[in-house]
Amino acid sequence: MSEKSIRWFCPTCNDFVSIRKTEELKEKVMQMERLPYPIIIKHGNPPHYTILQLDRDLRDRGRLTTTDYYDLTNEGALEQKGNLAESLDKEQLEKISIELSDIQQKIWQLLDK
Ligand SMILES: [Zn+2]
Repeated sequence: MSEKSIRWFCPTCNDFVSIRKTEELKEKVMQMERLPYPIIIKHGNPPHYTILQLDRDLRDRGRLTTTDYYDLTNEGALEQKGNLAESLDKEQLEKISIELSDIQQKIWQLLDK
């Protein structure tokens, strides 16, 4: 392993991109039972993603680039918000609505001072 970085041509950047072959990365890949081991590199502006499939010598054995990334953990948070609103009954919603308008009035009072 003579080179100190993994370098590839990114069609989205239309340029070469590289990451360093750190000891940490090498150790990580060596521990994997199944190779090649895929790693995702977020880079560029606007950000996009290259998936490198690394073999035991940290050579790239197949590469994909995409601009699409879906964060399901974030989607889960939105789902929880929806469930909370659905779980409240009409009385609870009216109470929250009144409290919110009280807060709104206090904000306006503070802004007037
Ligand atoms: Zn790129």
